[in-house]
Amino acid sequence: MSSWDDVRKEYYRRLGASVTKALEGNGFKARYVETGNAAKEAVLELIPSSASVGIPGSVTIRELGLPEALESRGHKIFHHWGVSLSPEERAKRLMDENASDVLLTSSNAVTLDGILVNIDGSGNRVSGMAWASNRIIFVVGINKVCRDVESAIQRIRDVATPMNAIRLNTNVPCKSVGHCVNCNSPERLCRALLILERVPTGRDAHVILVGEALGY
Ligand code: SF4
Repeated sequence: MSSWDDVRKEYYRRLGASVTKALEGNGFKARYVETGNAAKEAVLELIPSSASVGIPGSVTIRELGLPEALESRGHKIFHHWGVSLSPEERAKRLMDENASDVLLTSSNAVTLDGILVNIDGSGNRVSGMAWASNRIIFVVGINKVCRDVESAIQRIRDVATPMNAIRLNTNVPCKSVGHCVNCNSPERLCRALLILERVPTGRDAHVILVGEALGY
């Protein structure tokens, strides 16, 4: 190997190959790409030109600039971040996200044996992942690969949730101490846990695993 970076890329490539193989074994259509730009291209290839796209809470999808790219292609997009909505409008928007032609999201974690693990506060995102008739596309940074379901849950509570608490300025202890204390806060973010052991029956589900750190 010619440089430290080359070794890192080769390691990600090998890890990406084994995790995508495991995902395929669980019924997901999975592929590994090296960069965020390649992931963006792969997502755009999977979305038909006339499709509406629902984007629930996902830093990864926004980091990649996908909402802007889809808007510039003329897609109807449903999302609830960064917009001022009444409670009724917000509830409808969450339903519209899950009823879109394509649901575009990330996963909080993926295990070495190809299981997707997610935790929600309100449950809208995990409900769309578990059940809907649309195509679902997960874009997952290599930083979210975990050995097993237990370590995936640990990662979500000790890494993803404290970062989201900081992002949202939520009044939960992990925001201050940087790890989970299994709080009983009224604003607790961890409420609904979804473990996708296999693709839900009849679902067209794609996973694009990216050889870069993305999202939380
Ligand atoms: S249970 Fe509470 S402290 Fe733990 S990660 Fe969730 S919100 Fe943070």
